[in-house]
Amino acid sequence: MLLKDKVAIVTGAASPRGLGFATAKLFAENGAKVVIVDLDTEASKKAAAALGEQHLGVAANVANEQQVQAAIEQVIAKYGRVDVLVNNAGITQPIKTMDIKRENYDAVLDVSLRGTLLMSQAVIPTMRAQKSGSIVCISSVSAQRGGGIFGGPHYSAAKAGVLGLARAMARELGPDNVRVNCITPGLIQTDITAGKLTDEMTANILAGIPMNRLGDAIDIARAALFLGSDLSSYSTGITLDVNGGMLI
Ligand code: NAD
Repeated sequence: MLLKDKVAIVTGAASPRGLGFATAKLFAENGAKVVIVDLDTEASKKAAAALGEQHLGVAANVANEQQVQAAIEQVIAKYGRVDVLVNNAGITQPIKTMDIKRENYDAVLDVSLRGTLLMSQAVIPTMRAQKSGSIVCISSVSAQRGGGIFGGPHYSAAKAGVLGLARAMARELGPDNVRVNCITPGLIQTDITAGKLTDEMTANILAGIPMNRLGDAIDIARAALFLGSDLSSYSTGITLDVNGGMLI
């Protein structure tokens, strides 16, 4: 029970096959009261209900300041504290540099980067007052390798931005015992990959992964549990690669 009686918010966690829901589920199994924040009210409530009745599902677009503030107000009203925030919501677009239009750039950076900033800003005053908290930001191996199969250059830029933002927040919030860390997942089997990989593509990808398998959502959830809980009590500003050895 690594998160017994802790309150943990996971964004983008309503999709049953996604990294966010796997994280929310593992957190709930470890004793946390989990808040699922996703775009759709019904989907968020349904995902929270699937974890048990003590959990909460809230609708918010993480890139919308008013919606984020309203969501966090609901969380504080119900639980009175926030111990962990997992900034997981993200979207990707598999397009090339010259095809990136303003609306592509805005959409992708808004969710991953602005969303991470707004959600963090919304919980930081509470975490500071508590003198404890852990913010976990989901970046991507695309930020480190410069591109991936499913993400365009603007996605790599957004996810690299998350690494910088997280390190800067970690430096600023360290004195308040609020830790900020990142996870850089490799290629994980979720709705992002489902049905989109041919056998040839899979073989090519596996050739670059020493562990010779794609990741599962639980691989990321376990890393989030490490960073969200006291198991990582003296780590802040770190980037935890969870990619089967892709960068060796
Ligand atoms: P997914 O598409 O299965 O789930 C993303 C969730 O985010 C969805 O439930 C969606 O409704 C929600 N969402 C989208 N925009 C939102 C917004 N503006 N506000 C609130 N919620 C929003 O994706 P996934 O594969 O589970 O990915 C989760 C995170 O991990 C993303 O940030 C993604 O970029 C990152 N990631 C995924 C992989 C992978 O291989 N799957 C690899 C590296 C990084």
